[in-house]
Amino acid sequence: MFDAMTRRHGQNGQTAGGVKLSGHPISQRTLKNPISCTGVGLHSGVKVTMTLKPAPVDHGIVFKRTDIAGNGALIPARWDMVDDTRLCTGVSANGAVVRTIEHLMSALAGSRIDNLLIEITGPEVPVMDGSAQPFVFLIDCAGVVEQDAPRMAIRVLRSIKLQDGDRMVSLEPADSFQVDLAIDFASAVINRQEMQVEITSSAFRSEVCRARTFGLEQEVAMLRAAGLAKGGSLNNAVVIGADNKILNEDGLRYDDEFVRHKVLDAVGDLYLAGHPIQGRFQGRCSGHAMNNLLLRALLSDPTAYRLEPMCETLVVPASGAEVLPARAVAAASA
Ligand SMILES: [Zn+2]
Repeated sequence: MFDAMTRRHGQNGQTAGGVKLSGHPISQRTLKNPISCTGVGLHSGVKVTMTLKPAPVDHGIVFKRTDIAGNGALIPARWDMVDDTRLCTGVSANGAVVRTIEHLMSALAGSRIDNLLIEITGPEVPVMDGSAQPFVFLIDCAGVVEQDAPRMAIRVLRSIKLQDGDRMVSLEPADSFQVDLAIDFASAVINRQEMQVEITSSAFRSEVCRARTFGLEQEVAMLRAAGLAKGGSLNNAVVIGADNKILNEDGLRYDDEFVRHKVLDAVGDLYLAGHPIQGRFQGRCSGHAMNNLLLRALLSDPTAYRLEPMCETLVVPASGAEVLPARAVAAASA
C-alpha cells in the first residue's frame, strides 16, 4: 500500500539495513488542550507563568507577552527574530523580548509540535529543572492532535559550513535529522565529549531531553556579578565546583550529560528555522550564536534548501522480502 506513495514523495536511498522509502505524508500537529506552568527565568530570576495554547494550521510557534500593555506583544519563534545569543537564545519583535527559549523549542521539536501560541507573563521562559523534560511532560499532559495540513520540512540540498577558530558548525544533506556534536572544555569533569544521534521522538526522549544546562561555580559567580544567572541554582543546573566535583547531590543524569545538553540546545536552536530540518548538523565547540548564524546562512540561500512535505519513512530490507515500518521521519526531523 505504501508503494504508490513512495514513488511520488520524497527521496529514497540505500541504508545498511535495506532501502529507505518515503510513505504517507505527515500532518502538522498542535496541542489538544492549553496547559500552564510557573517558574523562574534562569538569567532574570523573574517568576513567570507560561501557557501553551493550541494554534491553527501554518501558525507556527509564536510567543505572546501578555504583560505588555494593550493586546500584548506577539513574537514569532523564528531565526530572523533572534537578537540575543549570549548564554541563551532570545527573540524579539514588536518591542518585546523572550529569552532562554531554547529548551522549550527543543521539547517542541522533539515532540513534533508545529503550531502553538505561548502566552508568557514576563521576559524569560521558566528554566524548570534546566532540561527539556518538564516541557515534554507538559505536552504529554495536554495531549497532541493531528491537523488537516501537511507538515513541511526544510531539506538541506548542499553543505554549509561556518568556522570560527576551533569552533565549527555545518549542515549537509541527509534523509533524516541527525546531530553530531563535540565539546571540549578545560574542566576535567567535562573534557572532550561527543555524541551522534538521529533525532527521532524516542531518541529525543531517552537520550537527550533530560540533560540539564551546566556551569562552573566560578563562572556562576561572575555571571551573577554581571546581573545574569539570577535564577540559577542546583535545582536547575549542573554546577561544577572549583575542585572539579559536581556540586549537585544526586550527580549527573547521564555520564556525558554535558554534550547531551549541547545536543538539546542545538535541536532547539535549529527548530527556529520554522520547520523541521532534514539534514545532518555538525557542531564542534559551538553554541547558540553559531547555531543561529548557520540558520541565517542556510535560509538566506535559496539554492541551499527546499521546503517539501514530510513523509513517514519505511525500510525495505535488503532481501526485499517485506516492507517494515521504520521510525517516522516526522519524529526524525522534529
Ligand atoms: Zn541549554
